[in-house]
Amino acid sequence: MGRLYAVEIVYRGIFQKNLAKNISRAIVLAAHKEGKPGISFGRYGDSPERNGIPAKAFAIVATDEQTLEEGMAKYEPTQVDVSICVDDTLFKGVESWAWYGLQPINKLVKPGGTLIVTSLEEPAALAEMAHRKEAPYQLAVIKAQPSFSGLWVYKDDHTDVRILGAIARVCPELFSLASVQEVIRKDTKDELKATSALRSFERVTTYEVQPTQGNPEEPYKFEMPKWHEMRDGIAIPSIAPGHKMKDPITGTEGGFQPARNPTFKKYATRTMRPVVDFDKCIKCTLCWLACPDSCFDVTPENLYDANLEACCGCGVCEAVCPEPNCVTMVNETHFSDNSSQWQAYRKDAEGYKANLASLIATRPERSHGFRFRGQYEEQVPAIIQAAEAEQQKQTQA
Ligand code: SF4
Ligand code: SF4
Repeated sequence: MGRLYAVEIVYRGIFQKNLAKNISRAIVLAAHKEGKPGISFGRYGDSPERNGIPAKAFAIVATDEQTLEEGMAKYEPTQVDVSICVDDTLFKGVESWAWYGLQPINKLVKPGGTLIVTSLEEPAALAEMAHRKEAPYQLAVIKAQPSFSGLWVYKDDHTDVRILGAIARVCPELFSLASVQEVIRKDTKDELKATSALRSFERVTTYEVQPTQGNPEEPYKFEMPKWHEMRDGIAIPSIAPGHKMKDPITGTEGGFQPARNPTFKKYATRTMRPVVDFDKCIKCTLCWLACPDSCFDVTPENLYDANLEACCGCGVCEAVCPEPNCVTMVNETHFSDNSSQWQAYRKDAEGYKANLASLIATRPERSHGFRFRGQYEEQVPAIIQAAEAEQQKQTQA
């Protein structure tokens, strides 16, 4: 039997679908140039692929047809040589629509395999954000702002070709730089893109992540019921109605916290989270009314606390809030837990406000794609500046 190579691309539904498709397709074409057959496909045709929902595409390549056929007998690989993550906030975990709880971003990476990510974060910080693995693996960071667009528009910012150049570097057995550049030239007729792949090939560095690094949280697990344990018919237990909230300082009870699904959390969909300045809130209830996922808990003093296990980060609350700077969407990579903002505010209002101010002041631009015509063109100078700073840093090192 020959050798089978598996690559997965973890992306955000809709916003990065074309990006993932471009990458998986080009992997197969580049390997084909070297006589290796392959196939690329997307998973989760089962869901309406919702905005921001983590989704996956795969590229499977083999040294011969028979090995490919044998490999494809499984629905999807259980281990991959290379995993590609095109949004660093997915390092916190991946939970797709109608799936089985939050799963680690590095779950399929085989021992010694590589996880490639586009991010402006440092490798050590990313390694801590991902779940721990029993065996070491490589982390390759492509310095870039995660690329978002949509189903019918594509942000052609070279993210796809940069990732392809990095794959040629970290897994040269899959395809060479020359093969992938040939595919890029033929597909795009753009020499600049072939050069971008080369630059990424030259510059990508890997960082070995040890089993001692990362989030120690146990990922969600479940056991499938045996056939003899199955019940007659299907009964779906309902969610309890909810309860009052308790003030952590005074013990006063009031307001209302709806009970929520204990398994399906939704927060893996989020790239930004709302942070609330409770001192600015005029209790107008608009955020509570407009939130599409009913995320706001009502506190005993009628403030509105975004429940961060339930929030999918859509930004509607920021848009409807009438008070300037009362609700602000902040890059999700800045946070390490989903605890209640209101509880933190009640315990130390001054500390909470100072933290809020620093979060808002330092937040890098994050959005799901283009919010207005010409936004990308406006961003280009900052993107070039960041790339030049990175190049200068690498030249000095
Ligand atoms: S961002 Fe705001 S409106 Fe959107 S789900 Fe979260 S709390 Fe609700
Ligand atoms: S929309 Fe703004 S002001 Fe109105 S209740 Fe929500 S946070 Fe307060």
